[in-house]
Amino acid sequence: MRSMEPSTKGSAGNSSIDANAHAREPDIRGGRLAADAYQHVFDDLHPPLSPHEALVESDRCYFCHDAPCMNACPTGIDIPMFIRQINTGNPKGAAKTILSENILGGMCARVCPTETLCEEVCVRQVAEGKPVKIGHLQRYATDILMVEGKHPFRRAAPTGKHIAIVGAGPAGLSAAHRLATYGHQVTIFEARPKGGGLNEYGIATYKAVNNFAQRELEFVLQIGGINIEYNQRLGQDISIETLKSGYDAVFLAMGLPGVNNLGLAGEDAPNVIDAVDYIANLRQAKDLSSLPVGRDIVVIGGGMTAIDVAIQTKKLGAENVTIVYRRDREHMNASAYEQELAQIQGVVIRHSLQPHALERNADGMVRAITFEYTTVRDGRLCGTGEYLTLKADQIFKAIGQKFEPDPLRGSGIGMAGGRISVDAERRTSVPGIWAGGDCVAGGQDLTVASVEDGKIAAESIHATLMKQPYAVEGFADTVLSGATPAGRDFSVPLDVHLTGGQI
Ligand SMILES: Cc1cc2nc3c(=O)[nH]c(=O)nc-3n(C[C@H](O)[C@H](O)[C@H](O)COP(=O)(O)OP(=O)(O)OC[C@H]3O[C@@H](n4cnc5c(N)ncnc54)[C@H](O)[C@@H]3O)c2cc1C
Ligand code: SF4
Repeated sequence: MRSMEPSTKGSAGNSSIDANAHAREPDIRGGRLAADAYQHVFDDLHPPLSPHEALVESDRCYFCHDAPCMNACPTGIDIPMFIRQINTGNPKGAAKTILSENILGGMCARVCPTETLCEEVCVRQVAEGKPVKIGHLQRYATDILMVEGKHPFRRAAPTGKHIAIVGAGPAGLSAAHRLATYGHQVTIFEARPKGGGLNEYGIATYKAVNNFAQRELEFVLQIGGINIEYNQRLGQDISIETLKSGYDAVFLAMGLPGVNNLGLAGEDAPNVIDAVDYIANLRQAKDLSSLPVGRDIVVIGGGMTAIDVAIQTKKLGAENVTIVYRRDREHMNASAYEQELAQIQGVVIRHSLQPHALERNADGMVRAITFEYTTVRDGRLCGTGEYLTLKADQIFKAIGQKFEPDPLRGSGIGMAGGRISVDAERRTSVPGIWAGGDCVAGGQDLTVASVEDGKIAAESIHATLMKQPYAVEGFADTVLSGATPAGRDFSVPLDVHLTGGQI
């Protein structure tokens, strides 16, 4: 029901505002599930394939020449090759094929939105609407190899070069592994007490069960030559100048530690929560029943973070969970598959509504949020003057993260759209410093894309240190010519190099 006034009267939503609601405190508590329900609340989203299922599935592949699936994979895994290896009874060979392009192939098999990458273009998807289950097969192969516990790659003889990496997320780990394989020594400086980045602190629990992020980290480190310094934050415990002068090269892979705000009065209320922080606590919780969960939850955003926090709080016993997004379904960053997953769990998704005002009780706790309906006029999103109020015990902000430039102040590194500007080899504007993953401009903000960034940067660092020829000449040439290397939209760096300035 729409209201022309931004008030709670006559509004409806999660559940409409009742007459006594003003008096009621936000209903937030742990232990909403029966004690024994917590054990399986975040069970594996997709149980692994059995050997027989893997064989049957691999049989569906046409082993296409110039396979579209392979072109759609940001890390360029030879998909027909690894599926054929599974099909011929060689899953460990298949795993090596995968890991040679993507050392975090085990995690990517679990978290990649394959429905918008390799599986979307699979010829069996195009012809029959039923792609080969590439992600499941990738997990099947990598699981077999990782359980065996034997690292499939060997380190080259030491080169005497030492590279500093900032951040032990997918981009940092991918770069570290490749550099170590070439015989370089790597030190990773990681702000948190554990490695893995968002694989450990962000990815939905049911996508990476049984401590997979840490097991994969151990697997990556088996190559040798990689040392991780935990609780070491760039800008606080170490400086960019120290790294630049103390190491042969620096790779920045710090992700996006900042959060975007709603810009509403009352946003500092304790029950208006950054979704990524909440998920990090959830991922690290020893006792899931201790997590505070509201009865009525409103999630603001349209990407994976919104879907993940909505599903996880619903599974933890929230009664009504509503995702509210300001544009229509087609514009949501979360894929149709992810949206459906949320809806199957009982999450309601509402579109074309933008946050307008928060309603607080006498203690400063938010108890409702009013949205304004939106429409697109002359290509611009604008409010219609109609309002809807939803009761909310907890409001989760999932409207995107932002880069924190402070640790790089004074470094002279070029920025683009609030993130680090890089060329096709992931070189920044400062010689000797590379960057990749979510912290750079123009990326896809996916695990697999960050792995690829780490790989490309490592190749470039290796070529530079070993005085091998560059694949792409010169930072300025690439950026200012507007060249568009595969998978990247360099229109942003081009623009920002003219306007975006340096840190
Ligand atoms: C909730 C959520 C769910 C997601 N789900 C998916 C998914 O299902 N599938 C998918 O493909 N992608 C998903 N993503 C995106 C994916 O997680 C990221 O694209 C990916 O992790 C980026 O990797 P990264 O290495 O660039 O950064 P991060 O993973 O963010 O790692 C950066 C690391 O740098 C460290 N760091 C930051 N600042 C400093 C500093 N000053 N000094 C030292 N260390 C520092 C951080 O502690 C962290 O360990 C999700 C993201 C979120 C937030
Ligand atoms: S496009 Fe589909 S059928 Fe063709 S190689 Fe890739 S997975 Fe196999």
